Amino acid sequence: MAVKYYRLGLTGYPLGHSLSPRIHQSALKAAGLDGEYQLYPLAHSSELPALLDTLRNGELDGLNVTIPYKETVVSMVDQMTTNARLCGAVNTLYMRDNELIGDNTDVDGFMADLNKQFDGQFAFLKALILGAGGAARAVTAALLMNGWQVTVAARRQEQVQELVQEFSGKIAVLPYATKNIQQQLSFSGLLVNATPLGMFPKIEGDPLPADINLPEHIRVYDLVYNPIETRLIIRTRQSGARGVTGLGMLVEQAALAFEKWTGVAVNRTLLWKDLQNEL
Ligand code: NAP
Repeated sequence: MAVKYYRLGLTGYPLGHSLSPRIHQSALKAAGLDGEYQLYPLAHSSELPALLDTLRNGELDGLNVTIPYKETVVSMVDQMTTNARLCGAVNTLYMRDNELIGDNTDVDGFMADLNKQFDGQFAFLKALILGAGGAARAVTAALLMNGWQVTVAARRQEQVQELVQEFSGKIAVLPYATKNIQQQLSFSGLLVNATPLGMFPKIEGDPLPADINLPEHIRVYDLVYNPIETRLIIRTRQSGARGVTGLGMLVEQAALAFEKWTGVAVNRTLLWKDLQNEL
């Protein structure tokens, strides 16, 4: 019998600095599978249907989707998983029973890594999320499903209101201002940075206003994963609280997608170690 060769990949634009090929090549090797993970940068969304056809006709076995197409592909799939529906965005595509499925592994990827990093221990099951874009949606969906209360602070009120509507009014909103954030932190167990502030190359960026004091009880999850330690996380440590960057979530969401495509579970620690050598 011929050995299966897995054709996997990532679409979005631009894709220059993506770590996904590295993670999935490690996963293929760890799983003992033959295959490849290619980048499919598409400058225009009008090119997406032709690429999705390669999944439908079996030329590709699995595809990740990233900025700016996570929402665009929603209308191009046959079925959405519950997680994808909850956050209105797709990051993983595959075929099941002749239908193109849009999934979102950021949701479970975030939750798995959050609990792993902090041993599931939080002073309060109340989270403050900074930012209201695609990643904030996945984080909100994950936290709500797991019994957390969620408050979102973002600079554009119309964007936050969209989030409130999508989650049927189940989240609270806060102005992105020092006084409000400081007050909210005193009874929050978790702060999530879902803005790109602090991301390479602008590593001096910090999503928290300078005069905020982080209480020691807070756990900080910075979705930014490059650099490996962001300014926000350095500041967290200096204030005696605990925090992590988003590399663990990146690995988890990739491993979950890989499992959907191949049916093989991979060792996260191995993927993580391989990736750390890269950064
Ligand atoms: P996005 O859809 O563009 O949303 C970004 C959010 O941050 C928006 O609400 C945006 O508001 C806000 N923002 C941007 N600049 C800001 C500023 N200077 N001050 C205040 N708010 C600002 O991006 P995303 O997909 O959600 O990604 C956000 C970050 O998460 C990125 O760094 C991404 O790499 C990271 N991420 C990590 C993982 C992981 O696996 N670790 C997964 C997904 C995303 P405006 O719309 O007003 O600009």
